[in-house]
Amino acid sequence: MTRNALLAPLLLALSAAACAPADDGVASADEAAMLPSLREEEKLAHDVYVALDAQAPQFANIAASEQTHTDAVRTLLDRYNLADPAAGRAVGSFASPTFAALYTQLVTAGRASTIEALRVGVEIEELDLHDLAEMQPKADHSDVANTLSNLARGSRNHLRAFWSQLTAAGGTYTPQHLDEATFRAIINSPQETGRPF
Ligand code: MN
Ligand code: MN
Repeated sequence: MTRNALLAPLLLALSAAACAPADDGVASADEAAMLPSLREEEKLAHDVYVALDAQAPQFANIAASEQTHTDAVRTLLDRYNLADPAAGRAVGSFASPTFAALYTQLVTAGRASTIEALRVGVEIEELDLHDLAEMQPKADHSDVANTLSNLARGSRNHLRAFWSQLTAAGGTYTPQHLDEATFRAIINSPQETGRPF
């Protein structure tokens, strides 16, 4: 084999690297800290809605949507070689003690009645939107930013859906995680369409 034949694969690899986007494929410290938490936060929404499935018909559909959300975050964890805190965990099981406690608290509250279940749905979406808004400025890669943006759109739509069911059932709710103006602006605007995950 000639020297050129030996070098060819290396040169090809180097030229492919030179043509690759500037993204280095390495998560920033902020991304490495927030993505595992986000993976479990979307799993929390899924798991609570699965547990409250019997309380109102929309929980099954929205739980399916949350499965696509937590899967989208897992895709980012895999892409950036970050450990998945939800790997091998069943519904209701969380690496984070905070999410484990929230799961128990929200499921217990939601099982009291349909109205309480819908209030739990509103609160989870509101919490997700609050936390996503804190994460969005910390996204350093475009795929991370796009996923956060899609998750927030999904949460706004879920918030509108739960809110309309809650008010139709005669329930009330005071925002706990978003400011009143932000909350009102979401519930008073129409469902958004966009590319699903
Ligand atoms: Mn979600
Ligand atoms: Mn949601």
